[in-house]
Amino acid sequence: MAGAGALAATAALGLPAVPPAQAQTPAGGQAPGFYRYKVGDITLTAINDGFAKRPLEGFVRNAELSDVKKAMAGAFLSQDALNITFTTLAIQQGGKLTLIDTGNGDSGAPTSGTWMANFRAAGFDPKDVSTVIFSHFHGDHINGFRLKNGTAVFPNAEAMVPSAEWAFWMDDAKMNAAPEAMKGAFAGVRRVFGPVAKDVRQFEPGKEILPGITPIAAPGHTPGHTVFALSSGDSRMMIMSDTTNHPALFVRNPDWSAVFDMDGPQAAATRRKLLDMVSADRMQVAFYHAPFPATGFIAKDGNGFEMVPVQWSPAI
Ligand SMILES: [Zn+2]
Repeated sequence: MAGAGALAATAALGLPAVPPAQAQTPAGGQAPGFYRYKVGDITLTAINDGFAKRPLEGFVRNAELSDVKKAMAGAFLSQDALNITFTTLAIQQGGKLTLIDTGNGDSGAPTSGTWMANFRAAGFDPKDVSTVIFSHFHGDHINGFRLKNGTAVFPNAEAMVPSAEWAFWMDDAKMNAAPEAMKGAFAGVRRVFGPVAKDVRQFEPGKEILPGITPIAAPGHTPGHTVFALSSGDSRMMIMSDTTNHPALFVRNPDWSAVFDMDGPQAAATRRKLLDMVSADRMQVAFYHAPFPATGFIAKDGNGFEMVPVQWSPAI
């Protein structure tokens, strides 16, 4: 039989024998949303958590809707709504599995919540995660850490969080003073971290927190928003977190502020500084809200920048 012959052939090549029926994704379905690449000896896996549709009206605080639509058209995107995608990173290094952010869990839009299926399709098990590092405390980054029913998704993982972010969101006075629309975000942070509050490890920017991973303060999007410099041997990369939302809008127009930026002018100053730096250094970058696999490079373009995505490679 042809099938058995193929299995024998893969065995002869020393490859794992995957029965053809199990190797197939149903016709009409998308391939699993994970993508692997390396920075030195560090293996990164981008893991997609679907998307949330966002109307363009009111999305950019300081730009005319007509200009936002023009930018969308320039990137061949819909002029009605933006599909905001979510892409976390899993980091394999020294036999340990670390995550940066966790996606929406079961708390996001119905078009999100695909993270766990993609994580498992990438060959990972939540039990094997030893550390989860958080860039900031917005729900699309933290809710995957704990299901709505209270279940801890990564039973053996330690949580590491920016100290400035913890100080802001866990402060009851700040919560009580917050506008009504923001109170849910404060409650969400407490729901996720409350049960493990005494075990959460807070970190300061500028000091390596795990081998090759150094947090850098990038305030504005939130008070403690953090990006991460990754280095291994001569290779370096910048994990830009939410320094920009969709690159077609905010890498091209770094002075634009998405409604999610809590301090618009500070976020814009941080964005320009970081984009200037990674473009000058020709450093690979990853953005949480860039099109999958959400990694590439930043080129200077007029008064703004352009994101140049990496090319899909079968070689890791
Ligand atoms: Zn986000």
